[in-house]
Amino acid sequence: MEMAMDRRQFLATGGAAFAATHIAQAGASSQAATVDRAALRRIGAAPVLRRDLLADAAIVQSVDLLRIGKQWALRVRDDQGGEGVALCNPSRIRSVWPILLDRVVPTFVGKDARDLHSLQDAMMLRQLNYKWAGLPFWVCAAWMELALLDLLGRRSGRSVAELVGPVVRRDVGLYHASGDRTSSAEAVVDELRGFMAETGTRAVKFRLGARLSTTPFSDARDARLIPLARKALGDDAILYADANSSYELPQAIATGRLLQAHGYAAYEEPVAFDDMDEMKAVADALTIPLGGGEQESSLRRFEAMIARRVVDIVQPDILYFGGLTRAIRVARMAQAAGLNAAPHISGGGLGFLYMLQFAAVVPNTTDYQEYKGADAAPYVVAGTDRPLTPVGGRFAIPQGPGLGIRLDPDWLARGEKVTL
Ligand SMILES: [Mg+2]
Repeated sequence: MEMAMDRRQFLATGGAAFAATHIAQAGASSQAATVDRAALRRIGAAPVLRRDLLADAAIVQSVDLLRIGKQWALRVRDDQGGEGVALCNPSRIRSVWPILLDRVVPTFVGKDARDLHSLQDAMMLRQLNYKWAGLPFWVCAAWMELALLDLLGRRSGRSVAELVGPVVRRDVGLYHASGDRTSSAEAVVDELRGFMAETGTRAVKFRLGARLSTTPFSDARDARLIPLARKALGDDAILYADANSSYELPQAIATGRLLQAHGYAAYEEPVAFDDMDEMKAVADALTIPLGGGEQESSLRRFEAMIARRVVDIVQPDILYFGGLTRAIRVARMAQAAGLNAAPHISGGGLGFLYMLQFAAVVPNTTDYQEYKGADAAPYVVAGTDRPLTPVGGRFAIPQGPGLGIRLDPDWLARGEKVTL
């Protein structure tokens, strides 16, 4: 396998190199340098929405939460007949929909959608919403934002990516993640092989540990699976491993060394996700790039993680973290520090589609983005008659106005309005 890059080169060259190269074991230790927090804060606070591209006001007239079977959609309409729709993650919305309707939607009704950022600020103060920060609040803010961006894009004839751009790429690779923690190492490798055959990708991820803990079974499985996946899938495979905060520090480092020895490309959440000091200790002990941040809900804590180089790849979830523009703020801070930003993708609700708009405009994202399989919602990519389908392990990023898709209008019309 290739042993071409060390951590420093990786950080200097960013995403393109990540795509091309295994990040393999190497001699260099991580850089101690930190990035100026004040500079990061300025970068993170800069506007993301390109208001200069939006000539016409779009006054939000109605925001409707629609339930269609197991799916939920948030539909925004403006005073000029414009419409935007975001699909909600079914497993989240059914728990949090009152937060969406009570705490998020009211800030935006009657307001110009082009004022997205000042409205997002106002939303934090309304009803003291900042005290509610965390996945249940931010995922609601994300659906609202995505529906508004879709509306603004469709009104202006521009893709969402153009509105938060400039656009830097038109297609992106995928990696497929196995969620399995109970099967044998051999069964997981078979599953990964199946993903590769199905999508044409070379990049896959699997789970280590037992999620927030280990067991004798998980320890034995980790020790077998790490070398087996490399041997069975070949030196060309790009392999990621995700421990979901399973390990204490010594085991996290030992497991990281095993991953390095087998040329793994990234190691996600080795220790407690909310312990920056431990994560940093793992980072300093290893050369393999560390990923983390899928649980994070604070822009300020991402700023701290980036300044301290706690991880090499920051992973805000576009939905759980509060939306596309907020995730782009994290990516911009990471770029200033020479780090990568590769979002965590929540399953269902077209999360992968929203990620494509992110990848379109973020120069320092990785070439392989998490993909959890096709969504159940009936939609087609605008200008085609089919949903997103990978070709040779890659997705063409939809270029049409807004989010670049069309949900089946008959299906959407069947939606029952949900009210408080
Ligand atoms: Mg993860």
